[in-house]
Amino acid sequence: MSEEFDATYDIVVVGAGASGLSCAVQAAKDGLTCAIIEKEPQTGGSSAFAEGHAAFESDEQIKRGINVTKEQAFNTYLDYSHWRADPPLVSRFVENAATTIVKMRDEVGAVYEDVTVTALDQPGELTTWHLPEGEVARLIELLEADARRRGVDVFLSTAATRILTDDTGTVTGLVAKDADGQEVRLGAKAVVIGTGGFAANPEMLDKYTKYGIGDKMINVGGQGNTGDGINMVLAAGGTEHNSIGTLLLFPLMRDKTITSHTNCTGMQPYFWVNTEGRRFTDEVVGMSFGNAGDVVATLPGACYWCIIDQATIRHLVEDGNEIGLGIYVRNNEKMVNLPTEIEADAADESRTNVVKGETIEELGRNMGVDPAVLRAEVDAYNQLCAAGVDTKFHKPSKFLFSVAEGPFFAIKMETGIMISMGALKIDEHMRCLDADGQPVPGLYSVGCDAGGLFGESYALPIPGSANGFALTSGWLAADDIAEAIHAGAL
Ligand SMILES: Cc1cc2nc3c(=O)[nH]c(=O)nc-3n(C[C@H](O)[C@H](O)[C@H](O)COP(=O)(O)OP(=O)(O)OC[C@H]3O[C@@H](n4cnc5c(N)ncnc54)[C@H](O)[C@@H]3O)c2cc1C
Repeated sequence: MSEEFDATYDIVVVGAGASGLSCAVQAAKDGLTCAIIEKEPQTGGSSAFAEGHAAFESDEQIKRGINVTKEQAFNTYLDYSHWRADPPLVSRFVENAATTIVKMRDEVGAVYEDVTVTALDQPGELTTWHLPEGEVARLIELLEADARRRGVDVFLSTAATRILTDDTGTVTGLVAKDADGQEVRLGAKAVVIGTGGFAANPEMLDKYTKYGIGDKMINVGGQGNTGDGINMVLAAGGTEHNSIGTLLLFPLMRDKTITSHTNCTGMQPYFWVNTEGRRFTDEVVGMSFGNAGDVVATLPGACYWCIIDQATIRHLVEDGNEIGLGIYVRNNEKMVNLPTEIEADAADESRTNVVKGETIEELGRNMGVDPAVLRAEVDAYNQLCAAGVDTKFHKPSKFLFSVAEGPFFAIKMETGIMISMGALKIDEHMRCLDADGQPVPGLYSVGCDAGGLFGESYALPIPGSANGFALTSGWLAADDIAEAIHAGAL
């Protein structure tokens, strides 16, 4: 052991979410010594909330008769990002994602229950969402156990604070703070950064996006995802990818869980108005929660109201919703909790994001909008519903539910955030690149910290992309580091 360090390893991985754990397990399989450090008391990060991951031409797809080719996936990533994604990186992910499924199933113990889409009516969505039993939270448990079994040192409640380099700029290790506030210095031939982006850091959200609502965004992912790894890499010579600031947003009620039926109702493509009481979009955007998130974030107050009447409530209870929310509320699920839940929400004086009105005018007053404006908007919308054609925003007629039978409810949807993506410039070997496009020797980035798969928005038409990339980039980085070490390049 070097005198300078408390311990030395071939690889030190920062962040024990899907990307970091996948990397650590593979490093051990490749015969490397490895430590993984996690600042929270438990592993998982935002990955612990994910349901499934993307792969292309996997045996789980093939045995279910699902045909999603690598070519389709590659082209979709490039088209969807307006070619801001990096073709070599996209290609490496697309080519290797099916192997991730085999690894997770045959080596780690995942059992795949289904491969599906997130939204039944989202045009062009590819069937790539591989859902493991117990969701990704179970997979995280399996990966952590596998890493420990294979001899990886797992440090919890230990936050990396600085990457160490020598005078040639080559990475030599890192500094971290353990649970007692003591400094720990770990030596490494390679440091892999997988700290999951900056969804939990309002200042970075404001710095890297134009929304200006960092403190208003409701983060439902890992609380530890404060962009630490990104800042450490930038300080160590890495650079930003052009897609830094790409976020996965979605409409969400404040102070509600994502399993709530009132919250899910607020996402339905019914009748939405802004804070002035005016309809502003084709509500079918709600069929892609990522697109709907991009819409809500740019509205005044970063919110909208979804208004429903009694007939719509009966439809939701008896026939089911139009769109669910991942596995948390299933597509077409009968919203049986809704009548009781929404009444309680409206009666709860501490809550201002669900209001009720016997009339549209009363509803408008309770929402804080001009009742005359709301009345006129409702009348105009009801005429479109009666005609069965939305001549204003061209919403498909099957979603034209009138707002006629009181009492009425309005649900205020704000801007939820799941993850940030695409911060650091890397190459297809997951090596962090400097301003000249050259690798910073020994420095790698994986998962949500790494840029190159997305453009300005999350590629929801390929569901499971973030988690699929996290798992795949993790093990690919380990393999490439092993090769570089064996070749004497690290
Ligand atoms: C509700 C929800 C549902 C989702 N569903 C899906 C889905 O179905 N499919 C999909 O593809 N994606 C989904 N995602 C996104 C997905 O979870 C992530 O994109 C992906 O799994 C991130 O993996 P990661 O390893 O990059 O980051 P994370 O899993 O967030 O791991 C990063 C870890 O790094 C740790 N860390 C941070 N700073 C430090 C530091 N200084 N030192 C040490 N450790 C540090 C964090 O605490 C965290 O544990 C969902 C996200 C949410 C919030």
